[in-house]
Amino acid sequence: MSAKIIENFDKPSPAGNEFRSDTFTTPTVSMVSALQHATVGDSVVNEDEATNALEAKVAKLAGKERGLFCVSGTLSNQIAIRAHLHQPPYSVLGDFRCHVFVHEAGGIPTLSQALPISVHPKNDLYMTLEDDILPNYVPDDEDIHCAPTRLICLENTLHGMLYPIEEIKKISEWAHANGIAVHLDGARLWDATVASGHSIEDYAKYFDSVSLCLSKGLGAPIGSVLVGPEKYIKKANHFKKQNGGGIRQSGILTVMASQALDDNWSKLATAHAFAKEVGEFLEGQGVKLHHPVQTNFVFIDMAENKMDPSVFEAKAKQHNVKVWPGRLAFHYQNTREGVDNLKRALQDTIDESKKNPYQGPRAKFYSTEKTDLPTN
Ligand SMILES: *Cc1c(COP(=O)(O)O)cnc(C)c1O
Repeated sequence: MSAKIIENFDKPSPAGNEFRSDTFTTPTVSMVSALQHATVGDSVVNEDEATNALEAKVAKLAGKERGLFCVSGTLSNQIAIRAHLHQPPYSVLGDFRCHVFVHEAGGIPTLSQALPISVHPKNDLYMTLEDDILPNYVPDDEDIHCAPTRLICLENTLHGMLYPIEEIKKISEWAHANGIAVHLDGARLWDATVASGHSIEDYAKYFDSVSLCLSKGLGAPIGSVLVGPEKYIKKANHFKKQNGGGIRQSGILTVMASQALDDNWSKLATAHAFAKEVGEFLEGQGVKLHHPVQTNFVFIDMAENKMDPSVFEAKAKQHNVKVWPGRLAFHYQNTREGVDNLKRALQDTIDESKKNPYQGPRAKFYSTEKTDLPTN
């Protein structure tokens, strides 16, 4: 590896002050050095050793037969959903906030011709079998007006919140007894394992398929892995190719992603500690949070707290931190200095809210990752 390349990556990550998303983490020297072991086979014909090894490694962690490396979590989720569905009409049930409904550009109706049934959980936190699934799923009872539910999608973590494993078990057992498949968008299941003490396999055993992201908190530049039974993954791979997701010499991506997994999984705890610290700081100032802080996110309802999103953006700029108002994301590359500056920007925004309470509109829910409010 040339000294120049190492030098290029051997400096503090620019993401130290980055609170917009955990996708802003940057590749490390360790990941770039892993390129020395990159294999050069064509993964479209399953001949890349590093890719096969990463797929097998994640499948083993999840207790599933096979894994499939994808360039994004969106691709992995969408082909997962498509491969569960056989012939329309049908519906897919999920939480109204779930990524597969809200942040995958309408992929489910477009790619799978399925009706998304979007459920607002009664407890505001997570769907339960009794309160949310049973009243909302569509039975296959020959009523030709309806689109029977063939798949339930759960997300863990969702907005940084942990899905109680007992509830997952209940939902999964009921679904399987009723011929309904269950998919987990486990983009941040790594975070859930660190915070809850349950393993990837403890969660995965209740699902027919699980998608796991390596490019969020784990910090890989690219990659998600879909895991499930052999036959199912073969079908998903067919859809992956159809969607233009076949990658030739993917070894250069998978050695980096594998290194990211080895290096950074345990470091998610530092992100959780920073999130908790900022959550407690806000609550100490009387700011109401949208959700409990259980992993790496702090959600603030800006309007409810009379905090002006555009003031926060300006204060963040002043204190040299990057934010999207409403949702603060934490990751292992955040620094003490970054977090302290974030707290200063929040303090200034709170002080301003007392002098000039914000009266403007609430940010649209579906734009949680950025504000769509006028920034006058
Ligand atoms: C980021 C994310 C995904 C996948 O997103 P890509 O940007 O396509 O990799 C899926 N689900 C959740 C919950 C996510 O946060």
